[in-house]
Order: sequence, then structure tokens, then C-alpha cells
Amino acid sequence: MDRTSGTRFESKPEDVLQPPATLMNATAKTNLLGFTRPELEAFVERMGEKPFRARQLFKWLYKRHENDFDKMTDLAKSFRERLKEVAEVRVPEIKVTQVSADGTRKWLLAMDGTQGIEMVFIPEPGRGTLCISSQVGCAMDCTFCSTAQQGFNRNLTVAEIVGQVWLANRELGYEPGGNRVITNIVFMGMGEPLANYRNVVPAAEIFMDDLGFDLSRRRVTVSTSGLVPQMYRLADETNCALAVSLHAPNDRLRDELVPINRKHPIAELLEACWHYVEKQNARSITFEYVMLDGVNDQPAHAHELVKLLRGRPAKVNLIPFNPFRNTRYKRSSPAAIERFRDILNANGVIATTRKTRGDDIDAACGQLVGRVQDRTTVRLGSKLISVAVQP
Ligand code: SF4
Repeated sequence: MDRTSGTRFESKPEDVLQPPATLMNATAKTNLLGFTRPELEAFVERMGEKPFRARQLFKWLYKRHENDFDKMTDLAKSFRERLKEVAEVRVPEIKVTQVSADGTRKWLLAMDGTQGIEMVFIPEPGRGTLCISSQVGCAMDCTFCSTAQQGFNRNLTVAEIVGQVWLANRELGYEPGGNRVITNIVFMGMGEPLANYRNVVPAAEIFMDDLGFDLSRRRVTVSTSGLVPQMYRLADETNCALAVSLHAPNDRLRDELVPINRKHPIAELLEACWHYVEKQNARSITFEYVMLDGVNDQPAHAHELVKLLRGRPAKVNLIPFNPFRNTRYKRSSPAAIERFRDILNANGVIATTRKTRGDDIDAACGQLVGRVQDRTTVRLGSKLISVAVQP
């Protein structure tokens, strides 16, 4: 099906894609990870408490990484008792953990019983990047993407997005007051973040809140395949970094690889990018470009890309394709990637090649879910466990 012709890409796809209320409330208790600080203030006020209690609670949740109300000792006992009745800190459930020899760690998190999302941690000297998901599946249908093969299921809630980071901190052994383990958060896991705008933006606010995860705006990156109207809205309403999945230097090829391009072609997309930089006073936009053998990796493609980006606040991140089952694409050779990068750099476009990480696990977005779903067609629970590689 040509998904670009449906209602999914209307001006407010996030409204179309909201999950039913029953999916958002797995229990009667309120998950506190779903609240920005002002929302938490309103919540505690409704409980008859002063707003400063919300700031204390926020710090317990994110600075001290505490989920046990009994241990939040500077809160009045009566307030803690009431919190236990009506609220909780609920994080997604881990179904599979994979750890690569290079330290890359990938988790499959259970959603709605039979569905899953993915989260990846990539440790590097001096930084640790957590790649999180924004939707269960994805409707954008990019032809080189493993997630696209699974179709779209639903948007994640704010609590499910924030819960990924909370959970990863716990799994990575973060100690309150100690060094950060997660220094960067990128919305580059499953899903198109801007199609879930109403939940992604509050989550990003919690990541950047100085009483929350306290990451600087340059360390929280929202990635998009090109939902142009939402990019303009993002420029007005938040101040995180932006990455754009470009993957092709002309509309003919991009129409094929990234079908949203048929609705918002490259010229329109780039205009939104330059607006974002100007409005945000940002340094640059990162353009992601997956290197597909013989498809978009030729010198002529590199020269076309130069024409689009030279003299602009742009950086190009070349990503060696990570093959998955049933894909028609192959990874470009190291020589082709190097040649492509050199053409860009020699012509004034900053380009780097992303180091391949986690080659020994299902590192590309959607691969782990795909593999597990293949097996779960036989039987779900035990098969999920059977592919686990615990640390
Ligand atoms: S590349 Fe991103 S936007 Fe495209 S189908 Fe995959 S998850 Fe969705």
C-alpha cells in the first residue's frame, strides 16, 4: 500500500495516531514519568499539596532515580501514603537484552503483550548515547528500514518514552550523584518522532529539565524523515537538536527510499531545516545518509548532495547499511563510503562516517523486533526468552 496517500500524513498525524485510552492506562494508577514539571505541579496541587512538593518529587524521580515513595524522606508521610495509592513509577518491561562485544547494548521492551520496541545504548570514550523509540512500529515505510516492514501499531506515551531512559539508567548501573552514563539521547529508534509530536516534545522537555535528566539542548536530538509542518512547529515550541534522515540527493531517488518525500520534497524539507537553524540559533542540522550499495552511493550522488548542502549549516553522517532479513539492499563497500565522504569534504560539506557498532547483535533499528516476531509466530513468551543474551 502507498501509505503516503492515506490520512496518516495529514497536517496533524499525531492526532490521528493517538492510542486508545485503554492502551494508555494499563493500571488505574498514574505513572509519574508521564508528567513534565509543570504538569507534576498541577498533579500535586490537585492532591492538595503545594507546588514545591512537585519539585521535590521531580528530583527524587530523576536526580536520585528513586521509584520507592517510602524512601522519599523529605516528603510528608501522609503525602507519600497518598502517592502510593494513586501514583507509581512504571517503566517498560525488558524482554530481551543483547550485549555486543564492542559494548553496544540493545533491549527489546514489551508493549501491549505481543508487541515490542527497541532501545540501544552506544558507549564511546567520554559519552554514552541512548537511542530510544517513539512509536511501536512505524508508518513511514522507508524501503531500507527493518522497522517499516513491521508496519505501524501505535504511538508511545510520554511515560513510555521517558520510561525507556529511566530504565536504561537503571540497567546501566547509574548511581545518583555519580557520573552520567547516558550523556546523549537520540530519537532514532523505532518510529517517526514527529508523527508522535504531542508525546515526544514533553518527553524531550523532561530530558532537558535541570531538575529532570538535565541534558543540554545539543544532547537531545529529535530525528525526522521529513514531516515538514511538524518541523516548523518544533522550531517554535522546543529547543532540542534536529537530525534529518535524507538518504538521497534527488527527489526521484528519495521518493523511492523515503516515501514521505512525495508529500514534502527535498526543496521543501531543506527550507524547513534552514528555518529551524535560524529560529533556534542552532549550529547545524545533521543529515543522516544510509549508504546502500549501487543505489545512492555513487560519486554523482555525492556531487548532487554537495549542490544541496554546500554553504549551508549542515553536517552529513554517512551510515553503513545494516542488512536485515529479506532486504533487497546491501551495504556499500568501505571504499565507496570513503570515496563518497571524500567528495563531500573536498567540496566544503562536512561529512563523517558512523562507525558500525553492534555488528554481532541485531543493531539496526527494528531488527531485533523483527527477529523475535519471526520466532513468536511459533510461540511468544518462551521464544522471546530463548533469544536473550543476558549480560
Ligand atoms: S527509517 Fe525511521 S521513519 Fe523510516 S520507516 Fe524506519 S523508523 Fe520509520
